[in-house]
Order: sequence, then structure tokens, then C-alpha cells
Amino acid sequence: MSNRYDTLIVGCGYAGSILAERLATQCGQRVLMVDRRDHIGGNAYDYYDEHGVLVHKYGPHIFHTNSDKVVEYLSQFTEWRPYEHRVVASVDGKHVPMPINRTTVNELYGLALETDEEVQAFYDERAEPMDFIRNSEDVVVAKVGRELYEKFFRGYTRKQWERDPSELDKSVCARIPLRTNDDDRYFGDAFQQMPADGYTAIFDRMLDHPNIEVRTSTEFTDVEDQVEYGHLVWTGPIDEFFGERFGKLPYRSLEFELRSEPTPDGGLKLPRATVNEPSFDVPYTRTTEYRHMTGQLEHDWTTMHVEYPRSEGDPYYPIPNEETQALYKRYAALAAERDDVTFVGRLARYQYLNMDQVVGQALATFEKLVASGRVEASGTRA
Ligand code: FAD
Ligand code: UDP
Repeated sequence: MSNRYDTLIVGCGYAGSILAERLATQCGQRVLMVDRRDHIGGNAYDYYDEHGVLVHKYGPHIFHTNSDKVVEYLSQFTEWRPYEHRVVASVDGKHVPMPINRTTVNELYGLALETDEEVQAFYDERAEPMDFIRNSEDVVVAKVGRELYEKFFRGYTRKQWERDPSELDKSVCARIPLRTNDDDRYFGDAFQQMPADGYTAIFDRMLDHPNIEVRTSTEFTDVEDQVEYGHLVWTGPIDEFFGERFGKLPYRSLEFELRSEPTPDGGLKLPRATVNEPSFDVPYTRTTEYRHMTGQLEHDWTTMHVEYPRSEGDPYYPIPNEETQALYKRYAALAAERDDVTFVGRLARYQYLNMDQVVGQALATFEKLVASGRVEASGTRA
């Protein structure tokens, strides 16, 4: 086999795998993919543990989107199973719905509010209206006031990000809706379903093509000088690609504590798939019991993940604020000069993206590559 590839792709998560699939099937390209981990799927990787319970190796991954295009694309590789994620938070000794909704307010304050208007009036009495929402503290306090902000957001956010919400872009806490009705779903998207056979099965099918070669447990630097390639797709951290020459971009990491327990009655342990711990005094942020979301509703074992935020470890979360954006922009300027490299995905673009957004970004990136003439249907580089 020749060691000449049209494209070398670094990273076998959504961004890398979608580019590989598109370039191989739409352009006839020969593609080599590498990942330093010993598996494909990136952070979405899942596997069956020794008890036969499906576990998401890097924390709970729930698929939700408003994009028909993304659903249509992924549906080539999977069937779906309906699942709406629900979360409770431990607050004042109770488990109450999170996102905050009418039930949350009634249960915490011993009220019996019945309409959206009544709940809105409750928030309005406490809200601190602002002309300009500057950060993740403002985005909550302006709508529901300081007390609910302190109970649900401040401690959780300080643990997760090692920064106060006032030091984070408003988009971080704005991910969580603030509701006046009794909708207790975590997400509001039109499409909320899980892949019927799990996530790894999607990647297996996506990469099952004679023109795609996958090498796991392989660093970019292991192959960089060993193979020839026309184009490089980089889905790892952008600062790593440029040798951290302007300094390290900060990422938040997590340590996962895996807990397996017997459930001889076949039942589940947690009241909902995820229990959040907003108190700063609890050292972890949330516990998730996978069987709620994977469809294994009856099983004689159950497996849970407890998440402890860390500053060292795998780069899981880019940190959205002005300072990190300024540093990212310096790297992005270098990237813009590199016609020979395509930067795509959560780490390469330093964006806090959900799976569906990465799928959308990868599809758009492929379309741009074709439109720019850098790749063409013949499989050669222009
Ligand atoms: P990744 O999946 O990070 O893939 C990048 C790959 O590149 C990695 O496998 C890495 O090992 C490899 N790599 C990097 N550098 C190199 C190198 N130099 N050499 C070789 N290999 C390299 N999204 C949702 O939609 N719903 C959720 O519920 C959800 N939950 C999440 C929970 C957690 C704890 C985390 C961390 C993320 C969650 N996400 C969720 C986001 C989701 O994981 C990402 O959007 C998606 O996986 C990003 O895909 P990617 O291809 O950009 O990056
Ligand atoms: N958040 C919070 N309290 C919660 C849940 C979320 O303060 O109970 C904040 C926190 O800053 C978190 C952000 O909202 O990082 C986004 O939450 P999400 O559940 O979307 O985080 P992810 O699943 O991406 O870790």
C-alpha cells in the first residue's frame, strides 16, 4: 500500500470523522485518520462495561438539535430512540427540577403558583433588570434575581469553571433556560433522540469505507513525517498545532468517578438521569446514571459517573470569556494563513459546541473546501 494520502485527519471525533466520510465518499479521496486515544468517536465514545451497561466514557452525551440537516446526515448511520433528558438539582435538601421552572419555585418556596403569569410575577419581584447583559451572572440575575442565581448557578459555575459567573461570557449560563411553565426537560430542541445502538456505532459505520484508514493510539507527530499527504485536517487544540507559541489556551477538564452497583430488582438508583449539585461545598458537579438515557431501563447492574471539575487533564471545555477569545484570535489569525490546513471542531475552533453544532460545522467546512476548489470530485487537490 502506498503511503500517499490525499488528506491526513488528526482526531477521530465528529469533526474528523465527518470530514473523512465526506472526502472519501463525495470526492473519492484516500484518507488517513489518526487519534492519540485508543478508540474512535472522540468525546462521544461509548462502550459496554463488564456488566453489560452502556457507558459514555467522557460523561453524559445527550443528542438534541433544531437542525433538520444534521438529523438527515446522521440518520444515514443510525436509527434513533426517543429520549428527553430530565435533571434535578439538590437544593435546600430537596431534589427540584433544573432548569428552574414553576415546579422548582413551588417546591422551594412552598407555593402553589399555577400560571406562567404568576411565576413571571414571582421572578419580576426579584429580578435586577439591566440595560446591558455583560456576563453569566447578569444573564441569570437580570431575569430571576440573586437568590435563585446563588442557589442554582453560582456554586456550580465556580466549581465547573474555576471562575465566578461574572468572569464568563453570558453564553455559558444562557445555555440553561429559565422557565415559567412546568416543562422539566433539560433541552427545548425540536429533535431529542438518542442513537439506537449508541454513539460508537455511528462512527464505526461512518468510517467503514475502503478509502478510509484509521490509526488509533497514534499521535500526529507519529505520522507527520512518515506519510505524504496533500491536505491536513486538524481537530485537536489549535494552540497545540502552533506549538503554544503565544501561550497555552486554557481548557477545563474533568475527572470521572465510575460507580457500578448491583440492581437485583432491575430498577434505577437516581430519581432522574442526572442529579446536579450546585452547592460549592459539594466537590462534584453532577452524577449521571446512564441507563436512564440509553434505553437499558431494566438491568441487574447500573453504572454512574460522578464529575469532578479539574484544571489539569484532557482538554474538554474551551473557556468562553474576553481574555481567552483574545488569545484564541491570535492563533486563529495564524490558522487563516494556512491554506494547507483546515481547522474544525470544538478544540480547533476553541468553541463550546454541542455535538449537533460540530456536525453542522463539519458539513459546512466540507462544503467550503469544495467551493474553494481545494478538493474536487476527482479526489485530487487543486
Ligand atoms: P473531540 O470529540 O474532542 O475529538 C478530537 C479528537 O482529536 C480527540 O479524540 C483527541 O484525542 C484527538 N486529538 C487531538 N489532538 C491530537 C493529536 N495531536 N494527535 C492525535 N489525536 C489528537 N454535546 C452534546 O451535544 N450533548 C451533550 O450532552 C454533551 N455532553 C458533553 C459532556 C462532556 C463532559 C463533554 C466534555 C462534552 C459534551 N458534549 C455534548 C460536547 C461534545 O462532546 C462535542 O461537541 C464533540 O464531541 C466535539 O467533537 P470534535 O470532533 O470537535 O472533538
Ligand atoms: N449551570 C449551573 N447550574 C446547573 C447547571 C448548569 O450553574 O445546575 C451552568 C454552569 O456554568 C454550566 C453551564 O450552566 O457549565 C452549562 O450547563 P450544561 O449542563 O449545558 O453543561 P455541560 O453539559 O456542557 O457540561
